[in-house]
Amino acid sequence: MQKVTLIRGDGIGPEIADAMQRCVDATGASIEWDVVEAGVDVMETEGTPLPDKTLDAIKANEVSIKAPITTPVGSGFRSVNVHFRQLFDLYACLRPCKSYKGVRSKFDDIDLVVVRENTEDLYAGVEYEKGSDDVGGLIDWINAHSDRKITDDSGVSIKPISVAGTERIVKFAFDYAKANGRKKVTSVHKANIMKYTDGLWLEVSREVAKSYPDIEFEDRIVDNMCMQLVQKPELYDVIVLPNLYGDIVSDLCAGLIGGLGMAGGANIGEGKAIFEATHGSAPKYKGLNKVNPVALILSSVMMLNHMGFRDEATKLDNAVAAVIAEGKDVTYDMKQDRNDPSAVGTQEMADAIIAKM
Ligand code: NAD
Repeated sequence: MQKVTLIRGDGIGPEIADAMQRCVDATGASIEWDVVEAGVDVMETEGTPLPDKTLDAIKANEVSIKAPITTPVGSGFRSVNVHFRQLFDLYACLRPCKSYKGVRSKFDDIDLVVVRENTEDLYAGVEYEKGSDDVGGLIDWINAHSDRKITDDSGVSIKPISVAGTERIVKFAFDYAKANGRKKVTSVHKANIMKYTDGLWLEVSREVAKSYPDIEFEDRIVDNMCMQLVQKPELYDVIVLPNLYGDIVSDLCAGLIGGLGMAGGANIGEGKAIFEATHGSAPKYKGLNKVNPVALILSSVMMLNHMGFRDEATKLDNAVAAVIAEGKDVTYDMKQDRNDPSAVGTQEMADAIIAKM
């Protein structure tokens, strides 16, 4: 038995967590669930969105799976998702994007894996507010050391990209490719403009690629990459990107396969992985047994693969594909007409998936 932390989240989280858990159990994978809570619901009883018990469970188990958690705007409630990434140094965000027959989408042959760096770049959180003392000093320093001038009505965000940070994410992309029978890794950048950050990223990418002679390597400039992904996505396989481009391109790729409802994901660090649906907690649907459980179920397919339960993962993936292809026992958002009265609920869709295994 391998232990997995299950964080049930809030909003629609607990419903899709139940559906996912039942599907995973039905694969026969020998998993023992360590069920914990996080988010706004538990905050009401425990006074914190992230009780110690929950953190202890994530620390204790190598693998966790997390349903969505609400981040209330302007309440001082820190994003639990960002907190997890920083606390456990989950430096790789992995998002496979694959077409499933029966999903409304302009494309039907997508099979891409997006690997996004999670800790550096403009997302590192090093920012200086317009008019603050800090930004004043920084702008003075830059203006004294550069031909390019920054005006004093500017805010400034810093873009750090390091050798070590790039090395580990590009290695991750190649190792993933190797372990999953993938043929090619494409490193994405804007090295022609940002020579000292994206240029460094490209240089390190090329260096890492030399250690993987069996896997093809190429690079693309990010704007060209976006165009190519919508024109000829079949040319690409595993794509590795710095944080900001990764954020944008992973949603672009989710769009290619029918949207966030179909996108599972994971944040992975050394010896620690948290799998999650990429959509949010959709609070307006809370408790209605209405929403689509597929994104979290596909995250659990990734989790099973990660844990070495390859057959169980394939069984679940095929069952999801069969139910979607049939188009009968699916939630409202997967019907041609969203008001179709034959749409089933979250748990009924999970039942149909289980029946296919
Ligand atoms: P959202 O993903 O919750 O909702 C966006 C739209 O998609 C809504 O119309 C929603 O009803 C619909 N939707 C989402 N999931 C669905 C599903 N499984 N089936 C059918 N329809 C679905 O995004 P939002 O409204 O911007 O965010 C709501 C809350 O979720 C916010 O507090 C946000 O911070 C949080 N959030 C959490 C995560 C996470 O936990 N990883 C990710 C994104 C947003």
